[in-house]
Amino acid sequence: MTEPHTEAVFVDTLNNIASGVTDLVGFEVAAISVARDDDRSLEMIAVAGSDECREQLLGHRTPVAEIEREISTAEHWGDLRFVPHERMDLDIDRLGWVPDLEPTDDPEMWHPLDLLLAPIYDDEGRLRGLLSVDVPLDRRRPNPQKRQDLQRFVQQTRRAILAALERSELAEQVRLADAARMIVREVSSELSMDRIIEVCQEALTVGFKAVGMWIQTFDEDGEGSGAIYNSAGAEIALPEDLRIIARNSARMLWRTQDVTVLNDTIPELGVMTVDQEQEITSFMKTIDVTSMLFVPLGAGPECLGNLVLTRRGGNLDWSPIEKQAAMDIGHDLGRALINARTFERERRLVDELRELDGYKSRLIATISHELKNPLTSILGHVEMLESVPDLTGSVRNSISSMERGAVRMQRLIDDLLVLARVGDPHIEFKPVPVDLSAVIAEVLDLLRVTLERKELKVIVEAPQGPLFVLGEESGLDRVCANLISNAAKYTPDGGTVTISLETRAKDVELRVSDTGLGISEGDQAQLFQEFFRSTNPAAVALPGTGLGLTIVQRIVERHRGRISFGSTLGVGTTFTVSLPRAD
Ligand code: ADP
Repeated sequence: MTEPHTEAVFVDTLNNIASGVTDLVGFEVAAISVARDDDRSLEMIAVAGSDECREQLLGHRTPVAEIEREISTAEHWGDLRFVPHERMDLDIDRLGWVPDLEPTDDPEMWHPLDLLLAPIYDDEGRLRGLLSVDVPLDRRRPNPQKRQDLQRFVQQTRRAILAALERSELAEQVRLADAARMIVREVSSELSMDRIIEVCQEALTVGFKAVGMWIQTFDEDGEGSGAIYNSAGAEIALPEDLRIIARNSARMLWRTQDVTVLNDTIPELGVMTVDQEQEITSFMKTIDVTSMLFVPLGAGPECLGNLVLTRRGGNLDWSPIEKQAAMDIGHDLGRALINARTFERERRLVDELRELDGYKSRLIATISHELKNPLTSILGHVEMLESVPDLTGSVRNSISSMERGAVRMQRLIDDLLVLARVGDPHIEFKPVPVDLSAVIAEVLDLLRVTLERKELKVIVEAPQGPLFVLGEESGLDRVCANLISNAAKYTPDGGTVTISLETRAKDVELRVSDTGLGISEGDQAQLFQEFFRSTNPAAVALPGTGLGLTIVQRIVERHRGRISFGSTLGVGTTFTVSLPRAD
């Protein structure tokens, strides 16, 4: 009765019946009330009689419990219940309307407080409607003939009310199951099963009028027991052998695209032994449910789990509409399960890679550290040997070759240690305001000998005075030193290196440009990779470890800054770094 049109037709039918009673059986008033689903009161929706009584009675509500109490003391006249006024204990206000009749003590005559009702029960014995009549036209309490005439209308009323209620319950079921489906479909992009259950649990239990639910998922090998996800509040510890029964049954049902109902009487699954059946019934008793809707979950040919919705008490039937909606939900949840699984697999892989990366960094840091001390000792001894007088030319050559090799190793070890440090997420980032102009001036000072030796022209374009960024001084020093020394290293003698600093809305932009070798497009893609050195022979001939730019990139990322570059082979290169301003 959710649709206005259906409701109007229904009320019309009841009004016709009520008029039939007044006109054909002979009463001044006939009224019909209905108890809608889940509503524990009867509402008067059709009244035949005087305008005044119609006005007072229409919409009048009486609690079902009160009517039931009243009926329990009534005289049974077939389907009719007669409560003579002397037995009536319903509050007069509850009646809604009392006829203006002269009370009489004559047992043959109708008393204004007499009640004559026909309760309408559904198949489950619930009171769903009431036909009541008042004021017989002959003013006499109805004789057997009149009662029989009235009874015919009771049958009609019963049919009309039950059919309408069934229609409306069906419509309600469709609405609820559809709502549950929509919610499940919406959450199927959620990435964890726990989250999916959390979101759709209420929609599923409300939508299916269930008291609880759980989902069993199968392991990826399809064999293990998988996880049980409960709806909140209902702890379900599913015994191992029941999980196995559930898994086999779900597979079978998925193959035939079917759901099944498990009541106190066992289902049409056909795969269970008597022992297994008993196990299920006793499990249902343990969790205090009387009916379960068992739904397989899957995607494509693969069955991935099962969903169980539980009911308790009288409402045991799962309608075909509900079963169909549940099967559709089985598909949606199946897809969600596949998504969640893929995501979980990816997350595990990322964790493993991260772990591996951590291990690699720790290994490099440890080895580098262990190599550092012997290397310092070697360099000390080389220096000592160099100062020995009267060395032959070939010995001196050997010593300087040892020194060059040891210095190269030392540079590599230093870079490896820095790389391990700047990539370590456990080292806390503690930014302070750092004057980038001062850092650049210091770097240029340190590189002065190289710059002069190569006769490089250095242009610095920066605003006057300090320019503060938020960062770590040692890291920023490393960034500037690497970029400027690369520009100097990869620019032929007589070229130009330009360093510019500019303030932007939230950042400071550092640009280091050169008129050097440039970088080929093929090399550009790999520039920030660890140990990458150019494929350009002119660049490889120069000393380097291939770690400088990797370190620069990590430091910039640690500062939540950005780095980019542009380069043309044979023309020059520009690196641009943005760092957060400190104001
Ligand atoms: P390294 O300089 O120690 O080789 P980097 O990581 O600093 O290592 O640089 C990686 C590679 O990028 C270098 O080998 C070089 O080929 C190229 N490169 C870096 N900066 C420049 C530049 N300013 N001009 C040309 N090539 C450059």
